[in-house]
Amino acid sequence: MDTTQILTAFLSVGLIGAVLGAVLAYASKVFHVAVDPKVEKIGEILPQANCGACGYPGCSGYADAVVSKGAAINLCSPGGQGVVDQIAEIMGVTAAASEPMVAYCACSGSKANAKDRFEYYGPKSCASAVFVSGGHKACDYGCLGFADCVEACPFDAMGMGDDGLPYVIDDKCVGCGACVRACPKGIMKMMPKGATVYLSCSSKAKGKEVTDACTVGCIGCKICSLPKTTPSGAIKMEGDLPVVNYSIEDTLTGAKFKCPKGCFIDKADKNKTAEQIASEKEAFKAEEAKASEAAKKAALEKAAAAKAAQENAQ
Ligand code: SF4
Ligand code: SF4
Ligand code: SF4
Repeated sequence: MDTTQILTAFLSVGLIGAVLGAVLAYASKVFHVAVDPKVEKIGEILPQANCGACGYPGCSGYADAVVSKGAAINLCSPGGQGVVDQIAEIMGVTAAASEPMVAYCACSGSKANAKDRFEYYGPKSCASAVFVSGGHKACDYGCLGFADCVEACPFDAMGMGDDGLPYVIDDKCVGCGACVRACPKGIMKMMPKGATVYLSCSSKAKGKEVTDACTVGCIGCKICSLPKTTPSGAIKMEGDLPVVNYSIEDTLTGAKFKCPKGCFIDKADKNKTAEQIASEKEAFKAEEAKASEAAKKAALEKAAAAKAAQENAQ
């Protein structure tokens, strides 16, 4: 190759580069989309966790959605109320309340409590295991125990217990929901940070099927949802599985003490002795018996009064 050819090659490449650069510069001017300064301001105050809790692709996606699509301003769980207040100020709207949420595992089907239906030798991931007949657990709704949820948590707020089930460290959990999205069984769920009692089963199967697979699963007996147990109506049955409505205030004490399978876990019990828990149960039963006696007495008195009124009228 002689010098002229080399120079020609250089000049050609340079010319093409210059033409393309000019085209790009022109295109960037013509197609320039002005970014609303509010998007930038909101982007700056979001925690940059990019966890997707808001339902948008990352913090910048959420900032844009708030400004251009009218997305609710209280969707950033990691940011909490502080971020809600700041977004409200930028947008010139009233701050909406954001209820802090935490994740919980709605399954107590530990290695000791729940049977396997076959040995699984595939990749150690719940997402993979679920492709083999829905997973190795005899219960179709049971935790597969390969910790996909734990790995998905961007805040190091989860761990795996020796029992083969994941646990959540409430103080670290910011309610981003990444674990919920990672669980192929829909076992990770969210509850308000202020509540302590939750249902630790996700099985929608019939009682016999449940007891064949697991010693602690919900058998769908409905006791927890009865008005006598939960007068507030905070627990309703959906098929064979109760659902707790946390927007109705209730301590869920009745469900906790009356469920025959012990499906309602009280996080507060972790700090109590077995004796304390037993004595609380006794106190609950005594209170319930007293209330039942009082109700019977009131009904008898009402019937007697009605009878007397009828006799007087004759
Ligand atoms: S446990 Fe982790 S992933 Fe799940 S909601 Fe809490 S912070 Fe998010
Ligand atoms: S809760 Fe879900 S993701 Fe977590 S270990 Fe169990 S099956 Fe896997
Ligand atoms: S009382 Fe227990 S076993 Fe019965 S439906 Fe409620 S959670 Fe299930």
